[in-house]
Amino acid sequence: MTDLAHRRVLLKLSGEALMGDEDYGIDPKVLHRLAAEVMEAHEAGAEIALVIGGGNIFRGAGLAAGGMERVTGDQMGMLATVINALAMQDALEKLGGKARVMSAIKINDVCEDYIRRRAIRHLEKGRITIFAAGVGAPFFTTDSGAALRAVEIGADLLLKATKVDGVYDTDPKKHPDAVRFDTLHYSEVIARNLQVMDTAAFALARDAALPLRIFDMDEPGALLRILRGEALGTLVHA
Ligand code: UDP
Repeated sequence: MTDLAHRRVLLKLSGEALMGDEDYGIDPKVLHRLAAEVMEAHEAGAEIALVIGGGNIFRGAGLAAGGMERVTGDQMGMLATVINALAMQDALEKLGGKARVMSAIKINDVCEDYIRRRAIRHLEKGRITIFAAGVGAPFFTTDSGAALRAVEIGADLLLKATKVDGVYDTDPKKHPDAVRFDTLHYSEVIARNLQVMDTAAFALARDAALPLRIFDMDEPGALLRILRGEALGTLVHA
């Protein structure tokens, strides 16, 4: 037994979170720091699943804007998420953790295929499970992958790490008087047209009544504090 408020969570990191101050790719120092935060939370007793985006390498929409066929671009984006997942697996293992990458597209020379029951078994055995390649289909994002996997594995919270410390009524970078919400109902997010996650991901979370917490992962220790029950960032719930 642990004293944690959350038993099993899924943490969504954007690919850009791995970039640090670089323009592209992965900054090893940033990767190490994020992995250390995940390990700290894991060692406190939580079952942790991760979804990492691919925007630090490729996004299908960006490639399509440059003239590439969208489906091919999205497939490249999905492969980019596999690259990030492998990097995180390595960083977690360097810190003594056990981690498994499971991909929604078959690429099983480098990682496991996503099989729900096996994923749950990994979590129960204390392995940090990294879900790669989103939902495995073009025209989706890793936000959708995160919401889908969180519901499938019975996570009690979906954590979305962002560069700001929650959801505001207007962009806090442009408006210093922007007000942050502590909590929001799903319906308020829609009514106020707030950008929490992409629409498909948000609809899935809402329909499954999966609570979301949007928080700033740049703040050291934030992940563990949330797992212990602190109300950092913004909670979106039913
Ligand atoms: N992608 C996709 N299907 C999915 C998940 C991702 O086609 O289910 C592609 C899509 O092109 C996306 C890219 O992979 O832009 C990288 O994912 P995302 O944009 O979600 O990464 P993030 O913005 O979180 O770094």
